[in-house]
Amino acid sequence: MNTVLSFILFTLFSCTSFAQESTCLKARDVERIQKKIKISLQGTDNYCDPNNPKYTFVNAILFIEGLDLKGPIVPSPWNQDILPSRWQDYFFSRIKEVRNGSNCGPAMAYVVWNNPAMYLCPVMQDSAYSSVTTLVGTMMHEARHVDGYGHEKCEEGQYKGQRFCDKAITDKGSYAVSIEVFSKLAVSARNIHPSLKQLSLDWALLYTDQFINKFTNVKPIALLQEDSGNTYIFDGSQLSPVATKSIFPEGQFLPRNSLEWVFLPKNHTHNPVRYSVLDTAQISPVEPQGSFMQDYLKSPLEDRRQYKDVVYGSSTEYQLFVQLKGNTLLVENSPIEVNIKVNGPWGEAIRLFTAQDYNATAKNRIYVLNEKDEVFRVEIESNTYKVTKIENPAPGIVAITNLGANKYGLNRNGQLFKRVDGRYTLMKDFKDRRFKSLSRSGEMDLPRGSLVHKYLESLKP
Ligand SMILES: [Zn+2]
Repeated sequence: MNTVLSFILFTLFSCTSFAQESTCLKARDVERIQKKIKISLQGTDNYCDPNNPKYTFVNAILFIEGLDLKGPIVPSPWNQDILPSRWQDYFFSRIKEVRNGSNCGPAMAYVVWNNPAMYLCPVMQDSAYSSVTTLVGTMMHEARHVDGYGHEKCEEGQYKGQRFCDKAITDKGSYAVSIEVFSKLAVSARNIHPSLKQLSLDWALLYTDQFINKFTNVKPIALLQEDSGNTYIFDGSQLSPVATKSIFPEGQFLPRNSLEWVFLPKNHTHNPVRYSVLDTAQISPVEPQGSFMQDYLKSPLEDRRQYKDVVYGSSTEYQLFVQLKGNTLLVENSPIEVNIKVNGPWGEAIRLFTAQDYNATAKNRIYVLNEKDEVFRVEIESNTYKVTKIENPAPGIVAITNLGANKYGLNRNGQLFKRVDGRYTLMKDFKDRRFKSLSRSGEMDLPRGSLVHKYLESLKP
């Protein structure tokens, strides 16, 4: 039997559950949907119980039907425009029955060739483990398999060698559909809860990273911000304005995750805003989330003003939050619940970088840059830390970013440099301009890790 598995890392977001309202689904709606699809899931016909798998499934259909997707949805790597505007039409035309999955292994759902049934695995039927958006992404993914799209072996990462991946997003397979669903929910859905938008964004990024072997057509970009607050997308040679000043007061963009930044206003009087870029034409604010962000939001202004730099870790298996307060690093790590204070040998510290793996067992590595252009690595493991000085960092450069094969840097005066033949050379086209921040988006086609891997690589002669 040729089974197509939709393997999804449910463990990564298993801590995220959303309270569902325990209102009854309308009998009229249930009957209408039952005419479209045979619901052979286990459970009773109690459509007032959100823990009933049948409720969960019908609720997901109603969620799709009620979606208000607006905004400039333009084709992009994250939106291959496979789905029609009414996702339910796509789903119902391919899936005629939903059944209990009994051959699940690590999968969330699967379909079998030449059988228009979708098998939902236990994890997807449990509202404690999945959100409605995750279920919707899974349903549309499985519907795509009915069109004849399978999976191939993963070339990289945790699932290397296992048939859980798609070759390229431009092949428009099942993961392209998942990513389109999640990115549209994150960017264009007007009437869903911000936490669901955020979760969708995380899924879109995670899927792209984990399950697409070759993520083609992605042009990494950087955000460059002038002293005036004007902000530009920089592609390595040209600047395109992205927003008005009113959206970005003075402050800094912190690279957070792949394709995400957190904007932290300099005077700390405004709340930070998390931004994601799913199209170069569009930068969307996303609700800041997470306990550390909440801590920041609750901090008194005097405390906030002491933060010289802030770094947020991965949003996947664990979170790392580092603040540079005075010259002391305050590190909080969740869910390990570690709080560490590091009084390092760096003296006047000015910048932080992180390098993390998507692996809870990996060490957390933080880099501190001081005013003398010295770079220190702080490795954190359980509740201890180790500080090491990095030899021969690039002098004068306070921010470095890779765009494709090239490296760019900003010096202390805000001038833009390009690395040519191993040296940072002033970019003549921009010699009269001064920028205060350079922050690149994530790059999906590179091995996992963050800016600092590349930063440190760039330091090598
Ligand atoms: Zn699949």
